[in-house]
Amino acid sequence: MHLNDHSLRQLDDAYIQSLDPEALRGLSLRLLADLKEARDRLNQGPENSSRPPSSRVPWERASGGQPWGEDIKDSEPTVESADAKPADAKDAKPKRKPGKQPGAPGIGRPQVFHAHEEQVHYPPGCAGCGHRLENTAAVAYTGFQAVDLHWADPANPGLTLWVVDHRFYEVACACGHRTRAEAGHGAVDPLLAGVELSEWRLVGPGLAALLVALALRFRLSRARIQEFLDEWLGLKLSIGTIHQTIHEAGAAVAPAEEELVLAVLDSALLHADETSWPEQGHLLWLWVFRSLTVTLYYLAGRGKELVANVLDGFTGWLMTDGWMAYRDYPRRLRCWAHLIRKARGLAQSYDREARSFGHRVLSTFEALIEAVYTARESPPPVDLFIHHAPTLALLRAACEQHQDSDHAKTRALGVELLNDWDAIFQVVRHPQLPLTNNEAERVLRHGVILRKLSLGTRTATGSRVFALLASVIDTCRQRGFSPWRYLERAIADRRLGQPLAPLPR
Ligand SMILES: [Zn+2]
Repeated sequence: MHLNDHSLRQLDDAYIQSLDPEALRGLSLRLLADLKEARDRLNQGPENSSRPPSSRVPWERASGGQPWGEDIKDSEPTVESADAKPADAKDAKPKRKPGKQPGAPGIGRPQVFHAHEEQVHYPPGCAGCGHRLENTAAVAYTGFQAVDLHWADPANPGLTLWVVDHRFYEVACACGHRTRAEAGHGAVDPLLAGVELSEWRLVGPGLAALLVALALRFRLSRARIQEFLDEWLGLKLSIGTIHQTIHEAGAAVAPAEEELVLAVLDSALLHADETSWPEQGHLLWLWVFRSLTVTLYYLAGRGKELVANVLDGFTGWLMTDGWMAYRDYPRRLRCWAHLIRKARGLAQSYDREARSFGHRVLSTFEALIEAVYTARESPPPVDLFIHHAPTLALLRAACEQHQDSDHAKTRALGVELLNDWDAIFQVVRHPQLPLTNNEAERVLRHGVILRKLSLGTRTATGSRVFALLASVIDTCRQRGFSPWRYLERAIADRRLGQPLAPLPR
């Protein structure tokens, strides 16, 4: 946007008549660009947005059903732990905006800091006639104080809070137009309605990255983060500000979803898993898709839609547990750890039939694991699958014999093996592929602990923010880069309306 409200209000007949042809051409071009941008924004919806992956949840059906859309506008606390008392809830309502500047610090804020630095913001040029402006005639018209972080490094340990006074100037031009520098604003993912990206913030980008780390990586509740900042860094932040900052960080990295999905689709081998996750009384599932170079989370229902939409176009190997949502995918692998656990349970049963079937399954798996490990070290002279065809045929016969067993768990394992036979024994054909889904289960364990501490999320916005941030953090970590440095830059850029930098590679 070239002309802000302050400039637009000054434009009138008399001013336009006063401009020379060159200045008039310049103004027309700026107005034209602004008009086109405004029209585009008016016409933009999920149907024609240039960013379909972020404007429509990937598990949404084409018919337009919205599984948890009704509270999408809300932005209540994301990972609020049990020790965050309801009294905090009044602070957490981002709808409550006292000043004219959204999210403006300063009103009713108890702390005033001694600034380490002053940053001045001048308008780049006259918004009316386009001429260069002399900052000597500038007048400060507004400003705010931001607290940011000076990072520790091995040579210079210790965190330092760094306070910056931001001053915004108004400059009068010879043409009579007065132009104001303004705090930057960023466009927000339509699914995160209510969250705002703005430079006008008490919490600077580096400190914002620390808050995200404390919440998601170190699993602190909003109340504990508040306590830490106060008692260790001498900074008093409201629960609402902490909460708003984490949501803003989620909005900053939202455009990365497209890149994450593409990296998932590009994987030769993908691990997928899911675990239950409550969202204010609804039962959702925390899904993870993880390959060597990417981790992508979603909080969604447990239906097939998510898998079908996220993996649309995926041609690699997919390692999963036995959940039916994955069944339609042809190049699938099954985690043996689950099956072996079930077989061991049967082998220890008091039921004679269960015991015998359990031992049969266990011994077959043990022999095959041995063969797979050997084959990985030196390729066998005979194809492994052909070599073990008689063993597999015996197991299959046993499964068929027990699929109608009176013993429920015996019957269940027999049926499960038969139903998923090809996926389960694919690894015997391709011994370099993994035997277990540990890669996905390990990263979900972190989520499980967070769920137990936080009791889940409260709103669709909170759930989406959590999934986006967790995806970016884990992907950066597995690529060997600091997620916090990336996040700091992402927040800084996006608050200024600039595009999100690609994820580090
Ligand atoms: Zn001018």
